[in-house]
Amino acid sequence: MRTIKTDVVVIGGGSTGVGVVRDVAMRGFGVVLVERGDLCHGTSARFHGLLHSGGRYIASDPESATECAEENLILKRIHPTAIEDTGGLFVTTSVDDEDYADQFLARAAAAKVPANEISPSQALRREPRLDPGLKRAFEVADGAVDGWQMVWGAARSAIAHGATVLTYHRVTRILRADDHVEAVICHDERGGEDVRIECAFVLNCGGPWAGRIAEMADCHGVEVVPGAGIMVAMNHRLTQTVLNRCVWPADGDILVPDHPVCIIGTTDVKADDPDNLPILPEQVQQMLDAGETMIPGFRKFRAIHAWVGARPLVKDSRVASTDTRHMARGMSIIDHTTRDGVAGMLSIAGGKLTTYRLMAERIVDIMCDQMGDKRPCTTADEVVPGAEGRPLHTIGHRLYSVEHTQRAPGDEQIVCECELVTHKMIEKTMDAVAGGQLDDVRRQSRLGMGPCQGGFCSQRATGISHERGDIDADRANGLLRLFLKNRWIGLWPILNGAQVKQAALDNWIHEGTLDVEHVPAPAEEVVR
Ligand SMILES: Cc1cc2nc3c(=O)[nH]c(=O)nc-3n(C[C@H](O)[C@H](O)[C@H](O)COP(=O)(O)OP(=O)(O)OC[C@H]3O[C@@H](n4cnc5c(N)ncnc54)[C@H](O)[C@@H]3O)c2cc1C
Repeated sequence: MRTIKTDVVVIGGGSTGVGVVRDVAMRGFGVVLVERGDLCHGTSARFHGLLHSGGRYIASDPESATECAEENLILKRIHPTAIEDTGGLFVTTSVDDEDYADQFLARAAAAKVPANEISPSQALRREPRLDPGLKRAFEVADGAVDGWQMVWGAARSAIAHGATVLTYHRVTRILRADDHVEAVICHDERGGEDVRIECAFVLNCGGPWAGRIAEMADCHGVEVVPGAGIMVAMNHRLTQTVLNRCVWPADGDILVPDHPVCIIGTTDVKADDPDNLPILPEQVQQMLDAGETMIPGFRKFRAIHAWVGARPLVKDSRVASTDTRHMARGMSIIDHTTRDGVAGMLSIAGGKLTTYRLMAERIVDIMCDQMGDKRPCTTADEVVPGAEGRPLHTIGHRLYSVEHTQRAPGDEQIVCECELVTHKMIEKTMDAVAGGQLDDVRRQSRLGMGPCQGGFCSQRATGISHERGDIDADRANGLLRLFLKNRWIGLWPILNGAQVKQAALDNWIHEGTLDVEHVPAPAEEVVR
């Protein structure tokens, strides 16, 4: 078994874990992050894409609202390339009563969330597809955030500060010497070997799996309740601004413009297992109906993908154990020294992607206190590598760069037309993520995430990976099939209307021209 020695092990490579590893590394400690899949393999890849202004929580959770408002400004500064400054509107539609709107400005001011009322006609000029009968509208500082871009930016920063990031490494055991954590054992899912990481401290950032990870150190009963929510992407950017219903938080109350598409969400239902989250047809219909309330005609557009994620909510004794909609959204840090008598381990859950940096700052401050080694947090001061001096992302950003950079024509060949992913971008991403796994490439480049969902680009990208010598023909075939299978998971729940035609076209390309179902592939199915 390979052994690594470090000061701190961070478990979980979602936004929280990556924020924590960056913070620990920037304070000068040795640190290793361990993630069982790719970075953003869990909830942080299955979220709504909203950079919260805080407006959504002014009534239900004012403390979280204030945190969101403060972090919103910091993230725009340190992650400009991951954030589109769309702005947001809270709208009282023709079917909503005005009680909530009457309180909106006072509640926003109390939570220090900047907000401003505009007239319905101003809102309609800004977003002409909005319900023409809307009664009230409030501007807030919402944005759209690309979770992968943000998390990879933070990971690059952590690595630049000396951190080690081990993806595709699953933690299987946490070892103790008496009452103190001393090592983490993980399994290298690709290489097949076990790795022992000796450390002084473990920070459990396992999101909805944090309870299971705590169990590995004999810390029982850490109740992280997975609050499952579905989201549906539509084939157009039906809004350029984030739209929120001006009502108490409810299902399907937010529409986020995201790259060339827009996303309606979400639901909130307690799940039993974060690895097994169903998407029910009635939930998809519920989302389409909710979109219709804000944007008449919404249902006529094409739903292109549905997905589901699980909020890592810490059990809240104020509400029923199944009522995840009303559980607190704030972060919770669990000190296992006082709770379980296990020193050298803290767990964190709750919070939001928008507050990932603050969550990291809080847990690392506590770790420093417990180690008796106070070092200041500097994560708000440094822009992540690759984003220095760059403006906030705009929808025209990729088009501009394709049109204005003087590179060889072959470099600028478009591989994914929907998301404007060029040959050069694919090559650069493949240089950064070894193994030619197309879903890893997708998460970083957005390959196959637009309206055709990989219909045209998936086989082109597989060809590029093979041509570079990253993978042999058998693995190329296996990886293409895996990529298509993963895309289909999100297509089945919304196969209806116009999307059936698109799916039939994609199927014809893959089966009719390539016979993907029958290409020679490894005897053992490729799964990662
Ligand atoms: C439906 C929905 C919509 C949301 N929308 C928004 C939004 O618009 N804006 C916003 O700010 N927030 C949003 N959130 C909240 C936000 O997505 C989460 O708070 C955040 O992503 C949680 O990140 P995390 O790192 O704590 O958890 P995760 O991202 O789940 O990370 C935990 C990681 O631990 C890994 N792991 C588990 N077990 C092991 C093991 N044994 N070994 C190694 N690794 C392991 C998992 O693979 C996973 O990658 C939304 C959440 C949901 C569910």
